[in-house]
Amino acid sequence: MKMFNRNTIFKVFTLFLFIGLLLTIIGCKKVEDIPYEGESMSYELPVLNYTYDSLAPYIDAETMEIHHTKHHQSYTNNLNAALELHPELQIPIEELLADPSLIPSDIRTTIINNGGGYFNHALYFSILMINNGETPTGNLGLAIDIAFNSFDDFKEAFTTAAATRFGSGWAWLIVTNEGLKIVSTANQDTPLDQGTPILNIDVWEHAYYLNYQNRRADYIEAFFHVINWDKVAELYEDSL
Ligand code: MN
Repeated sequence: MKMFNRNTIFKVFTLFLFIGLLLTIIGCKKVEDIPYEGESMSYELPVLNYTYDSLAPYIDAETMEIHHTKHHQSYTNNLNAALELHPELQIPIEELLADPSLIPSDIRTTIINNGGGYFNHALYFSILMINNGETPTGNLGLAIDIAFNSFDDFKEAFTTAAATRFGSGWAWLIVTNEGLKIVSTANQDTPLDQGTPILNIDVWEHAYYLNYQNRRADYIEAFFHVINWDKVAELYEDSL
């Protein structure tokens, strides 16, 4: 008895051809996903979806423009320059900041300061819009009531965290396993090791000095007029 007739050989050949084609397709897709050798992660200054003057009189146009085009741009440039020294480091900035032990020691401080500066300002600029006195509703409103008793109590606690942060830093509303929490951080440190940030206020003097000089309390009060609660609610839903 013949083991292989022409028909069998043809079928086996076709099967191998099909498997080969399939592996090629899968292989191509994988190759596309892997950045080519030597390409470092890099970040771009996020484009604002509003104009620099649209937060006035609460935050003035000149402060916004300098803050975005000078400060945020510098953090972005410095972050990219540090990442270029380690093209093998293909980990998103949020993950590096949540666990700095993942960062090579020679660029760790630079990434914490400038990667933090990049991340913190990206969130800050994304949650700004004149709110006409609106306060959070829906799931976010409920979560704030559960965690802080009422919106007014939340506002008081957040204001205190921002006002009492000594020197330069940030106050935050973060989502944790135990619900919403208010924290503050020094310099450009993030609370990414504690939870998911959904709102922050920059209390470095460069964020308010042109308009408010040393009056940080007035800036914090004004900030409550420019929190885009729809955006914060969206970030809250995404974090769940
Ligand atoms: Mn800033």
